[in-house]
Amino acid sequence: MNISELFGEMVFNETVMKERLPQETYNALKDTIRMGSALDEDVAGVVASAMKDWAIEKGATHFTHWFQPLTGITAEKHDSFISPHNNGSAIMEFSAKELIKGEPDASSFPSGGIRVTFEARGYTAWDPTSYAFIKDETLCIPTVFCSYSGEALDKKTPLLRSMQLINQQALRMLKLFGHDDVKSVNANAGAEQEYFLVEKELFDQRKDLIFCSRSLFGAKPPKGQELDDHYFGAIQPRVKLFMRDLDNELWRLGVYAKTEHKEAAPGQYELAPIYSGVNTATDHNQLTMEIMKKVALRHGFVCLLHEKPFAGLNGSGKHNNWSLSTDTGINLLNPGSSPQSNMLFLIFLCAVIKGVDDYQDLLRASVASAGNDCRLGAQEAPPSIISIFLGDDLESILSSIEAKEDYEAASYRTLESGVKVLPHLRLDNTDRNRTSPLAFTGNKFEFRMPGSSHSIADANTIINTIVAESLRLFADELEQAEDLKTATFKLLRRTIRNHKRILYSGNNYSKEWVDEAESRGLTNHPTTVDALPSLISPKNVELLTKHGIYTKRELESRYEISLESYSKLIRIEANTMLEMARKEILPAVFEYEKLLSDTINSKKAVSSVLTAPEEELLRDISDNANKLYIACGKLKSEILNASNIADSLALAEYCRDVTLPTMNELRSYADELEVLTAKEFWPFPTYEDLLFNF
Ligand code: ADP
Ligand code: MG
Repeated sequence: MNISELFGEMVFNETVMKERLPQETYNALKDTIRMGSALDEDVAGVVASAMKDWAIEKGATHFTHWFQPLTGITAEKHDSFISPHNNGSAIMEFSAKELIKGEPDASSFPSGGIRVTFEARGYTAWDPTSYAFIKDETLCIPTVFCSYSGEALDKKTPLLRSMQLINQQALRMLKLFGHDDVKSVNANAGAEQEYFLVEKELFDQRKDLIFCSRSLFGAKPPKGQELDDHYFGAIQPRVKLFMRDLDNELWRLGVYAKTEHKEAAPGQYELAPIYSGVNTATDHNQLTMEIMKKVALRHGFVCLLHEKPFAGLNGSGKHNNWSLSTDTGINLLNPGSSPQSNMLFLIFLCAVIKGVDDYQDLLRASVASAGNDCRLGAQEAPPSIISIFLGDDLESILSSIEAKEDYEAASYRTLESGVKVLPHLRLDNTDRNRTSPLAFTGNKFEFRMPGSSHSIADANTIINTIVAESLRLFADELEQAEDLKTATFKLLRRTIRNHKRILYSGNNYSKEWVDEAESRGLTNHPTTVDALPSLISPKNVELLTKHGIYTKRELESRYEISLESYSKLIRIEANTMLEMARKEILPAVFEYEKLLSDTINSKKAVSSVLTAPEEELLRDISDNANKLYIACGKLKSEILNASNIADSLALAEYCRDVTLPTMNELRSYADELEVLTAKEFWPFPTYEDLLFNF
């Protein structure tokens, strides 16, 4: 098979557009894509018709607006191209209107109160900056999703707004430094996706995996990941076939799936794409998750995207590699061979440092979810405290800038000569810090906190915005400067001094770091419930509304929706636990108890001395079964109590402080029972079965 032919086969991309659109239509569309200029309806009509013909040739029969509502997964509503024609025949049609605008009956997507029922209509609007593609015989049109009054009901609209913002602010800076040829600045992302595979046949036997995508029970297997023998190990033949198939499907959709390897935990893998603009990267990551699940089923696996499917093993994240580049091909985070005199690089670097320090809480909130709570702060994932790792070389450059005493007189020259001779930045892996939530990795920042199931839209929206805000302040100051070099140096120096507390190169997993971070005054929001209120704090609302990224109402609705889904998820997990404990675990344990007591009785008939091990085992089992039963009652009544709490924050706090601890307690008895009960009696596959059996 020829990969270059296969690649993008199902995408209405540059090449196809050029081939199929009249020159002026193509130019108009390109202007829209490049400059965001409005597209007129005649042009859209020509595009629609060309898209339809292309799609039908590729076997498509339907089209759908493809959008990303606040559920975090993508949504589609299929319509066929079919349209009635004379004497009962049919023709295939696709109009400009159908391309540009859709009105999905969207009343059941979460809106956090933005869309009251009388104005339940939401509409989808074509996003021409992201290519249309064909999936499952359906032409998918990437769209944004808004309420009738124009408020964003999706994750993509704010992302697009943040891209405009960072473009605008970065251009000011580039202009100041004489890069007049640059017309646009793009934020890029490469999202490394982690996931687990389990056998479908085993998956089907576990209600917790079916309903919650994570195991709620399971004793530790004798072997976990302690030997580190899974990481980058040889890939099993069946998994390899799955990966081949996955790559093929993704390539056809124009997704640059690049690297596939095993991760640290047994059954865990990673897919890394080649990076692209954040809008495309976000769409492609959504597609990747969807296609992974679909292809896994074809190979008899289920793909788990939950952040922590198995207790005691590594969870799954999504490393979001972020950078800024110009349309002229400059990576603004590339330090070059002498970063100490690369003013532009230092400005952008410091803009990130300042933005992240000023808005730690907002960045933390952008990755908050019940699933991610199980992972962040566990020993294998970044903690919920935000900090930046720069590496020794960059840190020492920043220190020497900061240490400069005579900054008033400083200029490029003194800066250059004043800095000790520094080695070129080492770009290899050796000085990488894998524990940092946000690490500078050569020419990009790697944000490691997003959860494996998340859309990367939220995190990138926030990163773009907070960096743009720093750039805005910097540009405001430097545009007024009499001497740009002196002013820049002064600004860098002040920024480093004021924000260096966010830099940390030690072990972020350690207890010392938690204490150290506290003494530095850094924000620590260990759970989603702690983190979410930052979405509506006055300081953050001011930032986000000022730049038109979110309206106040959009923020409030997102806050409400996130709290609600947190509480709903925990209620579903609690109910699933009850179901499994009462209908599966206890009955199985009672069976085994019966076998033990029958044995005891028949042995007793011979001699009472012989029954010791059975009796002791029975006592242990009975004791744990009793505790499990009591914990079930407790959890049941807590679930009932929760339904009386109307306030969404109070409810989420209750779930975190009352329900989750009881769930953990309940689990501990069940896991103990699993250890004590004979294998053949245990009602569902164990960790050992799930993790080591393929
Ligand atoms: P690793 O982090 O495992 O060492 P790489 O550094 O090669 O691997 O890349 C990890 C991810 O970062 C890939 O998805 C890659 O496409 C992406 N990436 C590389 N360069 C950039 C960049 N300039 N901007 C954004 N993402 C990038
Ligand atoms: Mg990585």
